[in-house]
Amino acid sequence: MPGTAPEPTEFDLIGRIRRRAGGRDDVVLGIGDDAAVLRVPPGRQLVVAMDTLNAGVHFPADTAPADIGWKALAVNLSDLAAMAAEPAWCTLSLSLPGRDAAWLDGFLDGFLALAAEHRVALVGGDTTRGLLSVCVTVHGFVEPGRALRRDAAQVGDDVWVSGTLGDAAAGLRVVLATDDADGAIGGTAGERRWLRDRLDRPSPRVALGRMLAGRVNAAIDISDGLLADLDHVCEASGVGMQVWMRALPVSPALSAAVGEKARRQFQLGGGDDYELGFTAPPGARLDIERCAVASGVSLSRIGQVGVGERVRVFDRDIDGAGEGGECHVGRRGYVHFDPGASA
Ligand code: ADP
Ligand code: MG
Repeated sequence: MPGTAPEPTEFDLIGRIRRRAGGRDDVVLGIGDDAAVLRVPPGRQLVVAMDTLNAGVHFPADTAPADIGWKALAVNLSDLAAMAAEPAWCTLSLSLPGRDAAWLDGFLDGFLALAAEHRVALVGGDTTRGLLSVCVTVHGFVEPGRALRRDAAQVGDDVWVSGTLGDAAAGLRVVLATDDADGAIGGTAGERRWLRDRLDRPSPRVALGRMLAGRVNAAIDISDGLLADLDHVCEASGVGMQVWMRALPVSPALSAAVGEKARRQFQLGGGDDYELGFTAPPGARLDIERCAVASGVSLSRIGQVGVGERVRVFDRDIDGAGEGGECHVGRRGYVHFDPGASA
């Protein structure tokens, strides 16, 4: 009954996590001791990534616990995907304002559903009291020398991106719009829900990343915004890029929900897409298109690598159709909760 159940202790909460965490054969010792003991397969390199999500900064305060759980793992798996690593294990640091077993159960529903989808075992973590914050590390494997890096783009490469861009940025506008009179986001209720779902439940492109290893030169996951993230590849590789505005993939929901100006801004500088951006020699095109079919994720060729320092955007399509002039870009990367996001 509400109000009468004793508050769970830290150890009750850890027990709840432990009972539900999945296992794997290579987990010698999981949750329960001072540290986990894990077996790295012979002949593999270990790939490690960590990302934190803070309430009100990385997700809207009203986000469902299950969505927070899903996203906390998804953003980390996206980093492994961009390295072409196969995920294996994760640890979870939870800072919770209260000892709320129902919240934790909801959180685990989302977190462990995605973990099961990718056969990732939760092998340890930390549970403390504080402002709501979730920090996850993921560990995965890659064949020696096969990790995809940001610093290997070559002049003459094609630039590619997976999925569609800008949906999550529009989804955040759906959340921030306090009444239906807000004209920024249109479309049907179903389209707005789909956009919000792209914000709350990103799909890390793990299988695609694995397939791209050995086929492409450089890769990054698009988390802050297409241009901001491709700029990182340019900087690390010592190259520039030309991107064709009309070649950028757009979802039907985003097209329906916003006008062209807002759509372009979301596609170029919106955050939270968790798609993969990569560069590959033109000779790899057919092979890459086969990866799209095999992974079930659409891939779009959006530009090319040249000399220079950063990404420039031109108003044309991949086949040259369009006016061709250089586009003026506002923000290159997403600023969380920036009220100017519809610009
Ligand atoms: P210690 O005091 O030795 O650091 P803790 O009491 O923090 O250990 O944790 C006990 C066990 O529970 C450890 O194996 C730890 O990895 C695990 N654990 C604690 N919090 C979490 C969590 N949020 N998710 C997964 N495992 C956790
Ligand atoms: Mg200890």
